[in-house]
Amino acid sequence: MVKMKLCKRAAAFAAAAALGFGLFSDSFTQPVIVTEAESESFDITSYAERLKEISEEQERLDSEIEAAEDDIKKETEKQKAILKKIESVNEKIEVLNSYMTQLEIEISANKRLIADKKQEIDKGIEDFKKRLRAMYLAGDESYTSVILNSSDFYDILMRMELVKRVADHDNKMIDDLIAAKEEYEAAQEKLEEQQAEYDKQYEELNNQKKELDELYDSSKEAKKQLQAQKKKLEEQNQAYLEERQQFEADLSGILKSSYGDSSDEIMREAAELSANSALESLHEYYENLIEEGEELSEEECQYNFAWPVPGHYYVSSGVGERWGSYHTGMDITGAKGTEIRASESGTVIRVNTSCEHDYGKEESCGCGGGYGNYIIIDHGNEFITLYGHLTSVDVEAGDTVKKGDLIGRMGSTGFSTGDHLHFEIRYQGYYLNPAAYVSIG
Ligand SMILES: [Zn+2]
Ligand SMILES: [Zn+2]
Repeated sequence: MVKMKLCKRAAAFAAAAALGFGLFSDSFTQPVIVTEAESESFDITSYAERLKEISEEQERLDSEIEAAEDDIKKETEKQKAILKKIESVNEKIEVLNSYMTQLEIEISANKRLIADKKQEIDKGIEDFKKRLRAMYLAGDESYTSVILNSSDFYDILMRMELVKRVADHDNKMIDDLIAAKEEYEAAQEKLEEQQAEYDKQYEELNNQKKELDELYDSSKEAKKQLQAQKKKLEEQNQAYLEERQQFEADLSGILKSSYGDSSDEIMREAAELSANSALESLHEYYENLIEEGEELSEEECQYNFAWPVPGHYYVSSGVGERWGSYHTGMDITGAKGTEIRASESGTVIRVNTSCEHDYGKEESCGCGGGYGNYIIIDHGNEFITLYGHLTSVDVEAGDTVKKGDLIGRMGSTGFSTGDHLHFEIRYQGYYLNPAAYVSIG
């Protein structure tokens, strides 16, 4: 069997253990059921390594999916900004449209005024001609022929200059009409200039709108591609998840079949991989509940294990091979009577209070299978904690305890050379390294 590298947690723990190693010692026979390990049909190392590979691959995919999500979010933001600009351009176009309509109304009104004036001028000239005819009939030929021979309206206007001297009264009337007409025509010119300006603005806005529409379309296309990419990544991730679940199921079966085979460090590491995966799902589950606004009661175990002896952080011995046997927990030292607190909420499933040998010893008194007076708390989902060598036990089997509750006091019952707590965390009956799972404070 290939020796697996120590995982990060175990390495950190080894350092912690080295810190205070050797002050006290305890060893004992295990109270758990030991069965024959089925070692012939599986290679636990390759399982564990494949599991690790899958976890790493999933982590990589997760970060890629996250990046894709970020990009999609950015593209969505971009689209929002473009839509906002389109909206603003549309508003401008709408305003401009109403100005243009207004202007068209003014222009057509003005055209009507010009036409009216022209009609008045024509009528004035017609009247003038009539008067001239009358004058002609009266015999004043030299004067009338000038007007009557005019070729058109403007010719007439020019000839008016000639007749001005002789027809002051009529001329004044025509002059006024012409002035009015010219005024309207000047106004008309200004209106048409304004109209040309509006047309130009209208075209510019429409060009802007076209550009924005194109930007929007390309952003939409980019987002579509990102979503397709994300979907592909998620499918890959799903495939890994399925493989991982299969592996975990297999591993769990193997662990259960070799329950209690505590001497194998690789088995512990494999169990920790399995436990880590279970904890990950559990933490996610509770995070979701909290995000959804659920209020969790203190009785609810959230699988965030706390240090069982607040204020006492001296670890004299950790999990691992020790003097030819396997030490299954973490030893935390302190004075006799130091308060021991539940590491997480749960139900007390077993206590032993039979040991009266509360002092340091070189040989086991045999009480509680070497644990002396102890407490086991079931946290559900196959996680349990064990507290050994207690001088007193404050709970009974069947009690519900909350995380941080006082459950007993430190002592030296069972196989113990001095006052300390022997603390274990197990998953599916298998020993985990508590140092990797408890948090201080
Ligand atoms: Zn005893
Ligand atoms: Zn111990």
